[in-house]
Amino acid sequence: MAQRIKMANPVVEIDGDEMTRVLWSAVKSELLEPYVDLKTEYYDLGIQNRDTTDDQVTADAGNAILRHRVGVKCATITANEQRVEEFGLKKMWKSPNATIRAILDGTVFRAPITVKCLKPAVRNWKKPITIARHAYGDIYKAVEYGVRGPGRAELTFTPSDGSTRFNEVVQDFAGPGILMAMQNNEKSMRSFAHSCFKYALGVKQDLWFAAKDTILKIYDQTFKNLFAEIYENDYAVAFGAAGIKYFYTLIDDAVQRVIRSEGGFVWACKNYDGDVMSDMISAAFGSLSMMTSILVSPDGCFEYEAAHGTVTQHYYRYLKGESTSTNPIATLFAWTGALRKRGEFDGTDALIEFADKLEAASIDTIESGVVTGDLLALYDGAQPRPVSYVDFIAAIKRRLDERL
Ligand code: NAP
Ligand code: MG
Repeated sequence: MAQRIKMANPVVEIDGDEMTRVLWSAVKSELLEPYVDLKTEYYDLGIQNRDTTDDQVTADAGNAILRHRVGVKCATITANEQRVEEFGLKKMWKSPNATIRAILDGTVFRAPITVKCLKPAVRNWKKPITIARHAYGDIYKAVEYGVRGPGRAELTFTPSDGSTRFNEVVQDFAGPGILMAMQNNEKSMRSFAHSCFKYALGVKQDLWFAAKDTILKIYDQTFKNLFAEIYENDYAVAFGAAGIKYFYTLIDDAVQRVIRSEGGFVWACKNYDGDVMSDMISAAFGSLSMMTSILVSPDGCFEYEAAHGTVTQHYYRYLKGESTSTNPIATLFAWTGALRKRGEFDGTDALIEFADKLEAASIDTIESGVVTGDLLALYDGAQPRPVSYVDFIAAIKRRLDERL
C-alpha cells in the first residue's frame, strides 16, 4: 500500500460519549489511521471530562474550530436530571452542541446520506435534500399571553435614543383569547444567510429560501430582502462560476416544489419551518442513522457530526459484552466531510480523494447487502445480511482496500 496521506493542518477532533465513542475509535483505527497520518487537535467532550473541567473543554473545542476552521464531533450526552445522577455530575451542564453553536454563531445543515437500495418515501427524490434551519428567535423566544376577558392588546416599541415610540393596536378583545409577540435581529438573520450561501457553494448545490412575505410584510420580507442583498453583494458571482442558483419563493410554493423535485439542493428555513421540515425530510429519506449534521459559521468554519445521539441502549448491551449492530455511517461521514473540507482548504487533493473513496466504499458495502440492523426495514433489494458494527466496518475496509 502507498504511504499514509499527510495533512497540512489539523482538524479539531471532539470526542464524545457511549456507543458513538466506541464507533469513533473503531472508525479511526480501522478506516482512517491506516491510510491518513491524522493530524488532529483533540478535545474530550465525554461527560466526565466536561464535568472535571467545569465544561471549559466545550468552550475550548468551539474556539479551536474558529482557529482551525474544520472540526469533527462525536455525539455527546446532553445532561438531564437522570444523567446528573448516573454520573454524579457537579451540575446539569448545557448541551455541548448549543454551546458550540453559540461560539460559532452557526447554522445547522442536516443532510441525508442516500443509497440506492434505501428508497426515499417520495419516489422522485434522487438526490439528497439538505435543510438549513435558522436556530434563533421567532416563536422559540416569543412572549405569550392568555387573554381572560375583554381588553385592548397593543404592540409598543420604545427607542433607546428617546425618539418617537411605535404603538399599534393589535386587537380589541371582546372576550377571552390569545396573544403573542416574537422577534428576530438583523445580525442573526445576516449570519444565517451567510452560512447558507457558504454551505451551498461548498456542496455546489442550489440554495432555496422560502418565507411568507406576502403576509408578514415586515417580518418575513426582512428575511427575504437580507438574503437578496447579501446574495447580490457577496455571492452572485461565485454562484455563477459554480453553476448554481439562489432561488426565493413562498413557503407553501416551496413545499409543493420540494415534493415534486428530484432533490439535490439546500433548503434554508426559518426557525419553525426548519424544525418541522427537517423531521419530515429525515423521515422521508429513511433513518436518523443515515443523516449528517454540519454546523457552518457565517465566516466559513465547519463542524461535522452525526445527526443521531449516543445510542445509549446499544451501549448498555455493548457493556454487557453483547454484539451490537450500531450503524457507524453518519459518524464515518462526519469524518470524511471534515477531511474533505480540510483537503479543500489546504489544497490536499489526496485527502479529498481518500474521503470520496471511503464514502463510496461504505455505500458499496450497503448496496452489496451487508448492513447494520437499523437498515433492514428500509432495505429495498436482494436479501440484506445484518452484521455487527465490527463486521460492518471490516466489510467497508475490504472495499476501501480494493479501491486504493
Ligand atoms: P439516539 O442516540 O439517536 O438513539 C435513539 C434510537 O435510534 C436508538 O436507540 C436506536 O434505536 C436508533 N439509532 C440512533 N442512531 C443509531 C445508529 N447509529 N445505529 C442504529 N440505531 C440507531 O437518541 P436518544 O436515545 O434519544 O439519545 C441518547 C443520548 O444521545 C442522550 O443522552 C442525548 O442527550 C444524546 N444526543 C446527542 C446528540 C448529539 O450530540 N448531537 C443528538 C441527540 C441526542 P434502537 O434502540 O431501536 O435500535
Ligand atoms: Mg423538530
